[in-house]
Amino acid sequence: MSSSIAIIGAGLGGLTLARVLHLNGIEATIFEAEPSAQARTQGGQLDMHEYNGQLALEAAALTQQFHTIIHAGGEASRVVDRHVTPLLEEPDDGTGSRPEVLRGDLRRILLESLPEGTIKWGHKVTAIRPIGGGRHELQFANGNTITIDLLIGADGAWSKVRPLITDVKPYYTGISFVETYLHDVDARHAPTAAVVGEGAMTALEPGRGLMAQREPGNVIHTYVGLRKPDDWISSFDATDQTEVIARTVAEFDGWAPELTALVTDTDTPPVLRAINILPVGIRWDRVPGVTLLGDAAHLMSPFAGEGANLAMFDSSELGKAIAAHPDDTEAALYEYEQALFPRSEEMAADSDRNQELLFGDHAPTSFLALITGQDVAKYTRTDSA
Ligand SMILES: Cc1cc2nc3c(=O)[nH]c(=O)nc-3n(C[C@H](O)[C@H](O)[C@H](O)COP(=O)(O)OP(=O)(O)OC[C@H]3O[C@@H](n4cnc5c(N)ncnc54)[C@H](O)[C@@H]3O)c2cc1C
Repeated sequence: MSSSIAIIGAGLGGLTLARVLHLNGIEATIFEAEPSAQARTQGGQLDMHEYNGQLALEAAALTQQFHTIIHAGGEASRVVDRHVTPLLEEPDDGTGSRPEVLRGDLRRILLESLPEGTIKWGHKVTAIRPIGGGRHELQFANGNTITIDLLIGADGAWSKVRPLITDVKPYYTGISFVETYLHDVDARHAPTAAVVGEGAMTALEPGRGLMAQREPGNVIHTYVGLRKPDDWISSFDATDQTEVIARTVAEFDGWAPELTALVTDTDTPPVLRAINILPVGIRWDRVPGVTLLGDAAHLMSPFAGEGANLAMFDSSELGKAIAAHPDDTEAALYEYEQALFPRSEEMAADSDRNQELLFGDHAPTSFLALITGQDVAKYTRTDSA
């Protein structure tokens, strides 16, 4: 294949695709808006699933490297109530199928696996123009312009490539996050560290919850989830940390101090995040010379923990399809998209349902039912309406 391939975005999806193509002898260039690999810290742990994320790592020939970055013990999980009374305790006995890794470590092994020069950092796409025959002209914020034969949008939630394919835009789910970190937790935040334990700790009530996770390096990373209207985040002066902390912790009035300390004692400025999604079941008609993967294709809420796993799996499937059809890229894209649509629809529907189980009127009972494998239908929006 001699045609040029541009992947927009060096997230986990774009990197996995470039790696799988490279292993198949196909060179592609990633254009990434950020100025360098170190430009932004890559917070958060991800659990890699056997049926998608781990398969993608296998296709990328990175399984061995993956095993070196697993956070041993990180799969432990507990649920407590507002008084830290245990509701469920699941230790990590080493037999789990969803090992936890730091997003930054995963990104690093992918970056290290690519030939020098694969990524053009500081190349933010600002405009894309179809020029016929499935080819596109890309304009970058740095003034560069190029034309390419195959364009792949791996550029996340607010994709610049997506509008070439569909007018559909992300919308707000009704859940907002406040993200905090506690550092050196065993020494500096011992009571909270004891409550969180070695893995994940969740405390939920209808419309609110604390989802904390111990990360390697003696760190506790917390997502505070709140059911809020879409103007809630904009009602803050986000530069006023005291206000963000005070208004967030006010949502947990009467909760144990070991839990509220996850908010009040944050060692980093709290980060506000609106959780947005694309419609469940999003599809499009084939557009010559262009496709999407990962969040650009099917942004979903994080409540099934599938987004990064799917972005990587999409990429490995797309890479294999392109390699299997060296003389017919359209056939490769068609085959890839026909499998992409039902796969992402199923995961997006699970994410949507889980949002209700986590933050709906039956929390935490509904969440406990989910993680203990019980029938959750009676807790979902339709049934409880
Ligand atoms: C709070 C939270 C928790 C999550 N937890 C999990 C989890 O536990 N497990 C899981 O599997 N998933 C999780 N996810 C989802 C996961 O983060 C995403 O699904 C995943 O990162 C998508 O990868 P991607 O490569 O498609 O996009 P991204 O990671 O968003 O990467 C897109 C890249 O494109 C670049 N870019 C954007 N626009 C342009 C442009 N115009 N020009 C050039 N470059 C551009 C960006 O800088 C970025 O590097 C979570 C998400 C959130 C918000």
